[in-house]
Amino acid sequence: MGFSTLHLNANLLKALAEGNFTTPTPIQAQTIPAILQGKDAMACAQTGSGKTAAFVLPALHKILSGPSQKRGHGPRVLILTPTRELAQQITDTTRLFTKHARISSGVVIGGVSYGPQFRLLANPLDMLIATPGRLIDHLQERKVDFNRVEMLVLDEADRMLDMGFLKPVEKIIAALPAKPQILLFSATFSPEIEKVAARILQQPHRVQLAQTRQNHADITQHHYHVDNTEHKQAVLNHILKQPEVTQTIIFTATKRNADRLAETLEKKGFAAGALHGDMKQNARKRTLQALHNNQLKVLVATDVAARGIDVKNISHVVNYDLPNLPEDYTHRIGRTGRAGASGVAISLISPPDLPVLRDIEKRLGKPFVFQSIKGLESTFSEADFRKIIPTELPPGRPKQGGQRRGGGSNYSGGPRGNFSGQRSGRAPNHGKGAGFGGGNRSFGGGRPQAPRRSSTSR
Ligand code: AMP
Repeated sequence: MGFSTLHLNANLLKALAEGNFTTPTPIQAQTIPAILQGKDAMACAQTGSGKTAAFVLPALHKILSGPSQKRGHGPRVLILTPTRELAQQITDTTRLFTKHARISSGVVIGGVSYGPQFRLLANPLDMLIATPGRLIDHLQERKVDFNRVEMLVLDEADRMLDMGFLKPVEKIIAALPAKPQILLFSATFSPEIEKVAARILQQPHRVQLAQTRQNHADITQHHYHVDNTEHKQAVLNHILKQPEVTQTIIFTATKRNADRLAETLEKKGFAAGALHGDMKQNARKRTLQALHNNQLKVLVATDVAARGIDVKNISHVVNYDLPNLPEDYTHRIGRTGRAGASGVAISLISPPDLPVLRDIEKRLGKPFVFQSIKGLESTFSEADFRKIIPTELPPGRPKQGGQRRGGGSNYSGGPRGNFSGQRSGRAPNHGKGAGFGGGNRSFGGGRPQAPRRSSTSR
């Protein structure tokens, strides 16, 4: 089935053909017709499924179908998205599709100055893409005119909830003079999302396709035990040197760790950069651009910053720190293996990660199979590793699951983050690795004691 069967505006179809968008993805095929009929929609779709076009195309079609019947100059379509990068990506997608159409669109995001946004909102606008926090600022300043809003899109609604945007989103909805057509896109249909949907959507058209992405059949997953920070760094260096590793996103748990690790990797000669929420918008944009242009080989990122990043050639994702939330594991590894390409996801797992490892395995429904790299084996045996019960959970990690955890290793190593040296058994052989992958390991070695952590570095 081609895009022409979706009865979209001819100028959009022309741009789609020029952009080599020939066939709608499943999420597009299953949502666009209902959206074009004016229905509310609730779609469970991950980044990488083509969800952006699933809402941008019908939104643009609606705008191109005729002038607004309402007075005012404000946006006719309002798209709320959790992060600045996602807002930028939606803008880029919109630009691509409006090559042959006259549509005015703009972005309102945090981390940049207000002046240009005031000017943007003072002029007639068809489509506004915004992060909720900054849009609320404009709302409070009475700088945004909602009178013409006929379609509202909530992109990555689950992440907006996670980031505490529920109140701002509800405030924005309450400020709309009439109920618009509402499209809710979310990576999961959690009970919280269902609750929000029940409140704001009217008889939505439901589409649930997430399973196909969550299985990640196109992504090979490797898991390695690491003894301590030094060992982790040695394994990482080895991985990054492999010829098949062309572009990598490395996830750390904290912004500080992202900066430090990027700096260390730079010093080791890898073209590396950090991406996290403390960076100015311009710096984030430059880093992402460098990644897109292949000037950066390694991006060291935190979860929030990397959410929704769409770079086609990421060959490897490395979990330098395991994610705080089990669902973020799925989001993270989905940064590779995009658009039909295959990818590899590597997790470096140290003893204090055991509780979160268990949560992830529970969510995935199967245990991780560990491998080893020749010359860089962990001194822990698999059985011993799994028997370890940390005497102290890392700070921020509640003893029972379900909530967001603080997490991550202290990258700098040293007394605070280094949990080595507490076991008896083989001497570590870190840094002398030869092979890569290695297959399932044979296990042995000394019996480890529970790792002890007193760090507050997470
Ligand atoms: P998204 O899930 O919106 O982040 O999209 C993931 C990637 O798929 C983006 O690079 C899109 O440009 C691309 N894409 C989306 N829809 C199609 C399509 N129908 N045909 C080819 N590529 C697509």
